Order: sequence, then C-alpha cells, then structure tokens
Amino acid sequence: MTAQIIDGKALASELRDAVTAATRRLVAAHGLHPGLAVVLLGDDPASRTYVASKSRALVEVGMRPFDFKLPAATSEAELRALIKKLNSDPAVNGILVQLPLPPQINTSRIIASIDPDKDVDGFHPLNAGRLASGLPGLVPCTPIACLRLIRTVHDSLAGIAALMIGRSHIVGNPLAQVLLNENATVTVAHTFTRHLPELCRRAELMCVAIGCAEFIRGDWIKPGATVIDVGINRVAVGGKSRIVGDVKFSEAVEVAGAITPVPGGVGPMTIVCLLINTLRAACMQAGLPPPAL
Ligand code: NAD
Repeated sequence: MTAQIIDGKALASELRDAVTAATRRLVAAHGLHPGLAVVLLGDDPASRTYVASKSRALVEVGMRPFDFKLPAATSEAELRALIKKLNSDPAVNGILVQLPLPPQINTSRIIASIDPDKDVDGFHPLNAGRLASGLPGLVPCTPIACLRLIRTVHDSLAGIAALMIGRSHIVGNPLAQVLLNENATVTVAHTFTRHLPELCRRAELMCVAIGCAEFIRGDWIKPGATVIDVGINRVAVGGKSRIVGDVKFSEAVEVAGAITPVPGGVGPMTIVCLLINTLRAACMQAGLPPPAL
C-alpha cells in the first residue's frame, strides 16, 4: 500500500486565500484591520526564522504585524510592561510571545499576563480550561492545524482509536483534547509510556509530536492508519542539513492509509491557523461573529 499524502502546503494556500478575502471584507465593512503583535527575545536563529515567516504571512493576507525584537537580557518586569501596553492597545488584536523564553523569565507567568481574548497562541490557562471544558475560546494553532488536515481524510472522528504521542502544553496536550472533543477514543503516550510500538499498532489515527527524528517506524503503524507527523527535526545527511519528522516517512508511507509529509504537512497549516486565530480575535473583540473558515 502507498499512503495518500496529505498536502498541508496546498491546503494552507487555499485557506490563506480565504483568510485574505475575509480580512478584506472586515476592513471594508467595519474598518477593522486585524493586528498581531509578535514579541521575540534574543536572536535564536530558529525563532527569528519563525517570527519572520509569521510577519510575512500577516502582511500577505492584509493584516498588520507589530514586531517587537527585544534583547535576550530583557527582564520579566520589562516584558510584562510591554504586554500590559499591548493588552490595552486597540490596534493589537493578538499577542504572540515567541517561545522559548530566556531563563530569567517565568514563561507561565508571562503567558498568564496576556489578555485571554488576545491570546492567539491559545496557551493562556483560561483558554486551556475552555478547551478542556468544551467551551469556545482560542485554541492553539498546531492542534487546530492537525484537525484540519485530519478532516481531509475523515468526515467524522467519532469512536476512532486515536493515539497522541507527546503531551506538551503546545501540541500534545491540546491536540489530545481537540480529538476528544471530536469524540475520538484518545490514548496519550509520553516518555514514561511502556510498549509504545504495540500501542501504535492499535491506532487508527496517530499524531506524533515528540521532537525525535524518524523515531516511529513503519512496522509500528496499523495498515491503513492516518498518520499526522508534527515533528520538525534538523538532521545532517551526507554533509547536508535537512528537515525530517518524528516518523520514518519512507517506511510509514508503505503502510499508512494517509500521512502528512515533513516538510509540507503540519508546518504551513500552523501559520494559517495563527492568521485565522488573529481574525477570530479581532471579530470577538469587535462583537462580530467569527468568520466561517
Ligand atoms: P516538547 O519537547 O515540549 O514535548 C515533547 C513530548 O514528547 C513530551 O511530552 C515527551 O514526553 C514526549 N516524548 C519525547 N520523546 C518521547 C518518546 N521517545 N516516546 C514517547 N514520548 C516522547 O516538544 P513540542 O513542543 O510538543 O514539539 C514536538 C515536535 O513538534 C518538535 O519536533 C517541534 O519542533 C515540533 N513542532 C512543530 C510544529 C509545527 O507547526 N509543525 C509546532 C510546534 C512543534
């Protein structure tokens, strides 16, 4: 069997067009120009690349980026003062603080200081609680990106045996919750989980977010299963560097029913979901219904 490739790049491009149209309508009908503040501390090359691509994507769909590049030595008090200012700035509809933060800063306190209605990353405890309670709120971008990709293959997830490997607050935990809210039967695996290959072989849907290059092997996958690979790992091959996922793609593609590639799967969709969250936040703050995207 050769799996169907779930093309995140193509889906992201389609959705981006829809976001552009919805943004234009919002500007024309209500004079509302969604703005996202992106805060970056230090000059970690990977974080700089992510932040640059987010700002570019915002401009492309007609939203306003507000970039704040602060020194790595910025104190927690200084960062909180900036967030306080952004919380009360009506031109800023979303606030994203690029993680990881330098060690002198308490990440949880910073996330909790963001106005939950501007928390486009969906990491604020109030939004995490809303997701866990099945209430509407801002949901983290990568889990929503994964759900949109899964929906290209499955009309319904009711009763499906889903395995979430990884339980970070950014991906694994909220994605497990998203799948549960879709009525999947969800198992969560992590570093303490025993007999992972056996668990994998029972999963009809497997989502992997562990940050270990090509860790999940083809013979762990149930034939015909859907595999969503969130991992982004840079590896050196023959003196060249390339990006691979957490799943050994060349093996998995022979067994799975459908699979996301890396790159070109979850990554491009995550950025579009950030744009959608910014649009939703802007509508919510203006008392308008969220766009149907
Ligand atoms: P993290 O390090 O915060 O969490 C990793 C999780 O995986 C932990 O819960 C840990 O218990 C689990 N884990 C690690 N090794 C394991 C193993 N061998 N077996 C079982 N569980 C294991 O990482 P994260 O922030 O959740 O990111 C995971 C991966 O996803 C990384 O490669 C990251 O770069 C990538 N990522 C991609 C996107 C995207 O848009 N595509 C977004 C965020 C993260």
